[in-house]
Amino acid sequence: MKSVRPGLPEFDYIRAETIEQVSELLKNGKPSRLLMGGTDVFVQMRDGAFSPAILVDVKHLPGMQSIQKTGNKGLRIGAAVDLNTLAGHPEVVKSFPLLAEAAQSVASYQLRSRATMGGNLCNASPAADTAPAALVLEAILVAQGSNGERRIPAHDFFTGPGQNALQDGEILTSIEIPPPPKGPVGRYLKLGRNAEGDLAIVGVAVLGYADKTSESGFRFRMALSSVAPTPIRVPTAEDILESRTIGDETISAAAQAARKTAKPIDDVRASAGYRSAMVEVHARRALHAVWTALGREA
Ligand SMILES: Cc1cc2nc3c(=O)[nH]c(=O)nc-3n(C[C@H](O)[C@H](O)[C@H](O)COP(=O)(O)OP(=O)(O)OC[C@H]3O[C@@H](n4cnc5c(N)ncnc54)[C@H](O)[C@@H]3O)c2cc1C
Repeated sequence: MKSVRPGLPEFDYIRAETIEQVSELLKNGKPSRLLMGGTDVFVQMRDGAFSPAILVDVKHLPGMQSIQKTGNKGLRIGAAVDLNTLAGHPEVVKSFPLLAEAAQSVASYQLRSRATMGGNLCNASPAADTAPAALVLEAILVAQGSNGERRIPAHDFFTGPGQNALQDGEILTSIEIPPPPKGPVGRYLKLGRNAEGDLAIVGVAVLGYADKTSESGFRFRMALSSVAPTPIRVPTAEDILESRTIGDETISAAAQAARKTAKPIDDVRASAGYRSAMVEVHARRALHAVWTALGREA
């Protein structure tokens, strides 16, 4: 069906029935683009970033909209689960509240009812709010293509601004969240230009849990959005928190390590200098929040 919409180039819309059909359409030589909620695709088409001949709607494919427990207390999240569903799902809220918090931080209720987690990750914006949660939860992104299934760790998925590790003809079908460590506490702190409805100037996700095998007795995972070409983990901060007695000084040192790791740029939302300062502030706040929720005092 040929579609013409005001402000959009002309395109064919195809509602795919099977993964095989998707792979064929993506490889048929005509410029094609996958479509889920469309909240990135249509904005980018309107702005002239690309002009696909075909939009291939994949959100109705089997399993794409379901959330299921895996045998080992992890979760399998269909790539087309919308962000309101994700933020409110009882299993996500109970076992992975950090992911619910990240999903809830995206834009407005209306937008979240269209926007999907898979679309957020595949769009691969440095500012994608679910990406830091996927990184600290060590999610596996499951892709299907004509050569079968490929499982891509979140830390290998983001390859550049707007670039991801999917190969030609591949589609993201689900996001698997492995079982959490025992007694985890997570926080996602986001700074935007306003309280709601804006992309992050800085986003910081922290997951912490007790672990007797580390020198400090705890392990922390930290990831940042909007301050580097891709969402990133911060191993230097994590190492500090695992190797030193945790208190104000160690938390400050880890927050400074986050600032050093960040490679922010100037854009319409903030200057690089402001972002750099805010990474440190928000990393410190997120660490304090997690440490306090773990029942400790810095
Ligand atoms: C007003 C507004 C506010 C926004 N605010 C935020 C915000 O606060 N935080 C934030 O993170 N984002 C924000 N966004 C961006 C956007 O809403 C999110 O990135 C959203 O999650 C994208 O999901 P979608 O389902 O709409 O993706 P789509 O637009 O359908 O797709 C996004 C990209 O992924 C590709 N794709 C889609 N499905 C697949 C698949 N299964 N396999 C492989 N590739 C696929 C598409 O081809 C496209 O390139 C905002 C957007 C708007 C318009």
